[in-house]
Amino acid sequence: MSITKRLYLASIAMLVIAAILLYTLAWPAWQQQLTATESSRLALLINNAKPATAQMRLNHQQLRADLNWLAHPDRQGRKPGTVGGITARNWLAEQFATIGLLPAGSDQFFQPFSVEQHFKVSRWLRGQNGTIAAVDNAANVVGLLPGLNPALQPIVLTAHYDHLGIQNDLLFAGADDNASGVATLLELARYFSANPTAHPLLFVALDAEEGGLQGAVALFQHQLLKPEQLAFNVNMDMLSRDTNQLLYAVGSYQQPWLSPLLQQLQQHSAVKVVAGHDRPWYRAGNTTDWTLSSDHGVFHQQKVPFIYFGVADHADYHTERDTADKVDDNFYFQVSETILSFILLLDKQLSQR
Ligand SMILES: [Zn+2]
Repeated sequence: MSITKRLYLASIAMLVIAAILLYTLAWPAWQQQLTATESSRLALLINNAKPATAQMRLNHQQLRADLNWLAHPDRQGRKPGTVGGITARNWLAEQFATIGLLPAGSDQFFQPFSVEQHFKVSRWLRGQNGTIAAVDNAANVVGLLPGLNPALQPIVLTAHYDHLGIQNDLLFAGADDNASGVATLLELARYFSANPTAHPLLFVALDAEEGGLQGAVALFQHQLLKPEQLAFNVNMDMLSRDTNQLLYAVGSYQQPWLSPLLQQLQQHSAVKVVAGHDRPWYRAGNTTDWTLSSDHGVFHQQKVPFIYFGVADHADYHTERDTADKVDDNFYFQVSETILSFILLLDKQLSQR
């Protein structure tokens, strides 16, 4: 080996060592700084939140009655394809019809589907790999309000109505998860049938969210919806209780144009709206990423812009203790009003684009 070649190799080795040293020494500081930025950003948002005076446009008694019906022990935890699940979806279709929504499923208000058990990385949902449990005789419930300008693409409002059913003799009522989101979906449908938006609104009560977001996958897999024909997805999952009284809004990282809209929303909201849980780990530090945590994840993978509204996981999450009596009425009503305000702002914003 010539001297030049040795010198050359030695300098390459030095460079590699220097790079490794720099990485190990500088990385924690950089990471810490990013984490600090994220938490101070959150803190700033929370401190700047000026709760507005409560607005009352939705029927709060009706909201509560619908939540109670869905979370009632007679519904047996609304597991897909069970008596409880089927009773719930028939009732939802009746509600949609009474409200005056147009049937928009593949079979009237229903989009029936079944899924065989499989193990794979889902083609529809990258990164969601593992055993996907078999789902038999499931169905989404889909209804449409045409809006004032039917030429505009629809905004899709989603909330999953399924839950975990009965396991080892324990009944999982799923009051917060997600009778709360579905009751809000229904009450929003009643409000917008009397006060139409410019955009058509598609109301979708999804089945089989638990363990694989199967209902949302079915929407696209069976081409009931085509992603390029949709304006936006607003997903609601767990809206009715939080010790810190915080409502998370997930999606402004992926769609930065939502940030000013969320700031505006805070002026109309009696609850604190916190944008977050949508940053990748190197930006978020200890804050988990919820981008794929519920049905909005499938819309995101299909490149449909989305926002997800929900509360942080609580001690009763996915236990037999998630019952209707634990719901925080005032918080839940205000969260529902906040989501209504968001849809109004979104309808306006998208009409101006
Ligand atoms: Zn849920």
